[in-house]
Amino acid sequence: MIEELLGFARLDAGKLQPNITNADLAQILDRAREEIFPLAQQKNITLAQIEGPETLMIQADAEQIRRIAINILDNAIKYTPKNGLVSVSLKQTKENAIIQVTDTGIGISENDQAHIFDKFYRTNQADVQNERGTGLGLAIVKGITEAHGGTVVVNSQVGRGTLFQVTLPRNR
Ligand code: ATP
Ligand code: MG
Repeated sequence: MIEELLGFARLDAGKLQPNITNADLAQILDRAREEIFPLAQQKNITLAQIEGPETLMIQADAEQIRRIAINILDNAIKYTPKNGLVSVSLKQTKENAIIQVTDTGIGISENDQAHIFDKFYRTNQADVQNERGTGLGLAIVKGITEAHGGTVVVNSQVGRGTLFQVTLPRNR
């Protein structure tokens, strides 16, 4: 938590410049999936095998990209009721790498979708679900993604589920 806040403060001040190296996005996602796996198990949520290429090299800050994946996966598990399904897919175009995380969770209303990337914003539904959080995760996701020249979008239906899509340029 402290780490997150410090990292976030730096990102906010524009000082957390990505440390760009060649990184295997498929491997980063695999490791993030393994890290989150125990949380899924606790709720009997199926965390599907990642769909996509076995390797996908991009120029990025591997640690920051890991944080993107962890935050989105953590949300997917937190805001999906027991016995749900969370899936991750990875795609590449000539210029971009595209990460999609879908869940069968509580969903996010259109009104809330406009605010979830704001610092400290949490929906009422999140409280109703009795899930803890600070409302920083998605602000961090957006900050890191944009620092990499990428974009993040959400697509969701209340009561059905949510898709987060992160698009990152492969070369910088
Ligand atoms: P933190 O990530 O800082 O622990 P948090 O999860 O509440 O706290 P964010 O990750 O920024 O904060 O998410 C903001 C809000 O967006 C959440 O409180 C929740 O209301 C909503 N949200 C995020 N992801 C999902 C999802 N997959 N399904 C439903 N609601 C979501
Ligand atoms: Mg979160």
